Amino acid sequence: MKPIQGLHHITAVAGDPQKNVDFYHHLLGQRLIKRTVNFDDPGTYHFYYGDEIGTPGTIMTYFPWRHVQPGRKGNGETAAVAYTIRPEAVGFWQSWLSKNGVTSGPVETRFGADVLPFEDPDGMSLELIVSDAPATLRHWEAGPISEPHALKGFHGVTLWLDEVEATAAVLTGPMGYQFIGQEGARYRYKGASNDIGLYVDLLHRPGQAPAQFGAGSVHHIAFRTVDDAEQGEYQLALRRAGLGVTPVRDRQYFHSIYFREPGGVLFEVATDAPGFLYDEPVAELGTHLKLPPWLEEHRPKITQALPPFELKPIVKAQ
Ligand code: ZN
Repeated sequence: MKPIQGLHHITAVAGDPQKNVDFYHHLLGQRLIKRTVNFDDPGTYHFYYGDEIGTPGTIMTYFPWRHVQPGRKGNGETAAVAYTIRPEAVGFWQSWLSKNGVTSGPVETRFGADVLPFEDPDGMSLELIVSDAPATLRHWEAGPISEPHALKGFHGVTLWLDEVEATAAVLTGPMGYQFIGQEGARYRYKGASNDIGLYVDLLHRPGQAPAQFGAGSVHHIAFRTVDDAEQGEYQLALRRAGLGVTPVRDRQYFHSIYFREPGGVLFEVATDAPGFLYDEPVAELGTHLKLPPWLEEHRPKITQALPPFELKPIVKAQ
């Protein structure tokens, strides 16, 4: 069986949908590539952001729940999401974030690379990590950020855990990740490709409080697999490792299996196919409310229940 290549998408909870769109699409330059609903709760939007076409390893997704309480970071959850930027982009991001009222923290060094931390409007921790590594993605030319400064897909995630051993065993066992180093309480694992979305960091925080789920919390992280056949092999291997893995679920743009890793974080393995061009051409991605066939008959009721939001004209960052 092939080791897992890296991250496919990350799904989190937001509060206000307009603030979420303003921040990710207009400020970070992550194109809204799909507007649909939570298939398990169709009264809620499901927004997908990514590069121009939603390449796996760039996809950040949100359930905006207007009335949800703020979450609190803690153990058993993904506590930070990191994107890659090129070394020359650090100053640009400090200035662009500041111009838009977003306070970034001091630049830190982690495993020899600069890290610029800040938060999204719901308090979710984001990091921009400097790297020259390859990033096979499609830049959103019409977006606000020029190519040299643009985010180059996910660098990785940081999980906060009470214990790291059991989680590490799942990563390095059935998932095929490699341990590549430790820095203080941080243990880094790398997926098998040399491209985007490669890293999972485990932060050992024994005895610290568990996370409280809410706005700004990551709901789950998804790892990529090429197709249904390979996904079936992971499903079998993960079950053999004693994990409770769900049956395959049809998420329209990919097929998914889910399991909770021993540290409490919800993991998913999602297929690259069929992708986001399945029901919209590139130019129209994210501009229509798309529903899966089984929800289409309820479209009037669903549309009525969803709060309005708008995509504004793109302002190019200076
Ligand atoms: Zn997912």
